[in-house]
This record gives sequence, C-alpha cells and structure tokens, in this order.
Amino acid sequence: MRSHLLNDTTAERYRRSVTEGIERVAAKLATTDRPFTGVTVDALAPRIDRIDLDRPLHDTTAVLDELEDVYLRDAVYFHHPRYLAHLNCPVVIPAVVGEAVLSAVNSSLDTWDQSAGGTLIERKLIDWTNERIGFGPAADGVFTSGGSQSNLQALLLAREEAKPGRAGREGAASYGDLRIFASEASHFSVKKSAKLLGLGPDAVVTVPTGADKRMQTVALAHELERCRREGLVPMAVVATAGTTDFGSIDPLPEIAELCEQFGAWLHVDAAYGCGLLTSLKNRHRLDGIERADSVTVDYHKSFFQPVSSSAVLVRDAATLRHATYHAEYLNPRRMVHERIPNQVDKSLQTTRRFDALKLWMTLRTMGADGIGQLFDEVCDLAERGWELLAADPRYDVVVAPSLSTLVFRYIPAAVTDPAEIDRANLYARKALFASGDAVVAGTKVGGRHFLKFTLLNPETTTDDITAVLDLIAGHAEQYLGESLVHAS
Ligand SMILES: *Cc1c(COP(=O)(O)O)cnc(C)c1O
Repeated sequence: MRSHLLNDTTAERYRRSVTEGIERVAAKLATTDRPFTGVTVDALAPRIDRIDLDRPLHDTTAVLDELEDVYLRDAVYFHHPRYLAHLNCPVVIPAVVGEAVLSAVNSSLDTWDQSAGGTLIERKLIDWTNERIGFGPAADGVFTSGGSQSNLQALLLAREEAKPGRAGREGAASYGDLRIFASEASHFSVKKSAKLLGLGPDAVVTVPTGADKRMQTVALAHELERCRREGLVPMAVVATAGTTDFGSIDPLPEIAELCEQFGAWLHVDAAYGCGLLTSLKNRHRLDGIERADSVTVDYHKSFFQPVSSSAVLVRDAATLRHATYHAEYLNPRRMVHERIPNQVDKSLQTTRRFDALKLWMTLRTMGADGIGQLFDEVCDLAERGWELLAADPRYDVVVAPSLSTLVFRYIPAAVTDPAEIDRANLYARKALFASGDAVVAGTKVGGRHFLKFTLLNPETTTDDITAVLDLIAGHAEQYLGESLVHAS
C-alpha cells in the first residue's frame, strides 16, 4: 500500500497516474458537444449505489474507467459555451496547473511552519487585491473558501466593532439591538451569517431596490434614521457589487456617505463584481468600493479560477484581531512578537488550502489585463444579448446588464394568464436541462418565474444566445400546445 504514498520513491507513479487522469479530462474536453447529457437522478443513482467501497480496484486505469461511468460522462461542463446558468466560470489553464501543484505539495496555510513561501505568496496577493480596490497601506485580508464565508467573517468583524463602548460609536446593549441593512437583491448568506452570529430574527433589514435592481439609497437613509430613532445600532450596511440575480451594483459612493453619517460598517459584497477590478474599460463601475470597511471577492466567479478561491479584505488590518485565537501547539502569542506570520491568526479556518497559488499562476502567466479582457468580453456579450432580447417580441427582459447577467421570460402572444406563462417558462427550463442542449438558470421577479443567463464564458457567442432563445421558445410552445390539448 505504501506505493500509493506520494514521495521520493513514487515520483514516477505519481507522474503516470496524474497524467492518466489529466488525459481523461482532456479527452472529455475535446469531445463534449453539449454542456450536459441530461441524465436523471434516477438513472445515475443506481450506478453509484452499486459500487462497493470496501472492494477497491487497486488500479488507476480501472478506477478512471469506472469514474467515466459515474461522473465524467454526465458531469455538467462549465467550459461549454451553452452552459449559461449559474455563477460558474470556465477555468484558465495556469490556475489548473496551480491546483495540481498545490494539492500535491499540500501546504496548509494556517502557520508559517506548514507553508513557508505560501504564506508570503498569499499575503502578496491580498496586497495586490487591496491595491486594486484602492485601500490604503493599513489594509489586510485573507483567502477563504468562498463568498459565503467571506461575508460571514466580514460581518463577524462588524459585529465586534459595534460592541458597547467603542470610541465614536454608540454601543449596542445586546446583539438583539444590532441591525444589518442589505438590499432585497443581496445574497442569502447575509441572513445566514446574521443567524450564525447570534443576532436577532429581525437583524437584517431589507432595503428595496429600484427598477434597476440597485439599492434605493433614499430608502436606506430612511431605515437608518428609523434604526437610530428606535435606539437600535446600525451594525453594518451590505452593499452588493454585482447581485447574484441581476449583476446590478448598488450605488457605492452614496451608501458609503450614509455609512459614515450613521457610523455603520460598510461591507461591499463583490463576490461577482470583483472581476471589474481587472477590467480594462469598466473598472469605474466599482468606484466607491475603496470606502468600504470590508470587501468580499470571489476569484472563483469572475477571475476564471477553479473552486475554491475567495478572499475577505479589510481596510484596517487591526479589525482582523476579532478572528484571532492563540493555541500553544499552533500559533502561540509569542510568535506575534517574533514576527512569524501565521495566517490562522486572521482566518475562521485552521487547516486551509493554498488556493492563492492558482491566482498567482494566473497573474504570472496571463497578467491582470488578461483576466480583465476575458471579463470585459462576457460583459460585452451581455450587452449584445440584452439588445437581442429587447428586440425580440417573444421575450420580456428585466434590466440592462451592469455585468454579465440577463433575466428574461418567454411571453407567448396568445396567452394572458401569468400563471400559465410561469408554467411555460418553468417547463422550458426543465426541458432544456433534460435535453442537455444548454443549461440556463431561473429566478423569481415580482412573484413571477423568469429565466436567467449568467454569461461567464468568453467562448459563448451571440449565435449561441440566439440558438438557446429559440430552443427555450420551442420548449415553451410545446408545453402550451400540450396544455391546450389537455384543456380541450
Ligand atoms: C455567489 C455569491 C456569494 C456566495 O459565494 P460562494 O462562493 O458561493 O460562497 C455571495 N454574494 C454574492 C453576491 C454572490 O453572488
């Protein structure tokens, strides 16, 4: 069994095995003609069920053959130009090289004595990101598992900073008095974080958005005033720079102004919009982000990085102390005085992947402009998709894109019942998924069912968009035709 351990005597086996795995994926990439096979849970479950985990195959080739059957054949492939559903990006090759290196070396970024070099690389990338944001020299941050964790950590810091007696701010009598303000289009991890942080059930105040799906600052001001009037504490405002559904960017400068006025922590959730940090033409859409106290970025959404790769950034490094605990066996307090950099001092995680290496490899190979160019391409594509949808009488489209998302709904000329239109759109999405020809997402707007394209693949063309819109219309019409038959 020792022959399976990765070490000096198995280097050749490692090379062969990993290459074999890579060959399988490369063959898949070369032959995949649809984003999905349309396999059903019922078809796939028995294939996985009947595998006896207590009877290993002992052979990489055999295991990969089996994997073809249980995973590779029917996986959802994000690199395919007709995968248009969620916030998943195709990944860049330098990052995948980084992934292979980081898992083989297996550094853990909690302490310097487990990650010499890695710690400094991560810190340099945090500094690089902070510079792009426009934070000053006091800024810091740490890589996380994703935007949800980044938001949780940011709100933990905000909660601690809102504690009683803090200079310049009225302290909260109890956690129940703390309020977080976020728009109705903000990510659900804000509410989940509030719950995890022990805040009350009314802790998150939902601020309405306008027709452009951006937070209404007049309404925010109103809510902040009400909070103060009621003797409650405005703990944080979460501004979303790139909402998950619409890609809309809240008005950051106006929100920053209000945060200052009311002494609230400003967290900018740029999990999606962070791609603009490298944009060659749209960086200005993030103006005001430099006034945040904390920022969430998901490199695994708009930097073309493999899952997982995210970070939480803070304007003032000192605020990260709220995540600091010292363990004698790991990161004793004396190490701080010895100036040994232990990233665990800043993180909610302990053992932690060296995800930063993927971004490092990407920047060193392609440069920041290379990422920005790719992201600009998908934003341009969304503009053209918007024009197509706006000109197409078969479709109703919600809002012009700020990033790369389009939300729309099929509106058959002959049908007026909105519930029936809902059903036609739901059916079309399902049928499209079952066909595997394309994958699109769905959401609700104003209580009605809509469909969604999240465009993150620069290989997707306007022809793809046109073709998928025709497919959706075909499925919706089929549904309506059948329901007419059933009704008569
Ligand atoms: C995706 C997303 C998140 C959550 O990020 P994960 O990496 O999926 O945990 C948070 N906020 C916004 C706006 C997002 O789009």
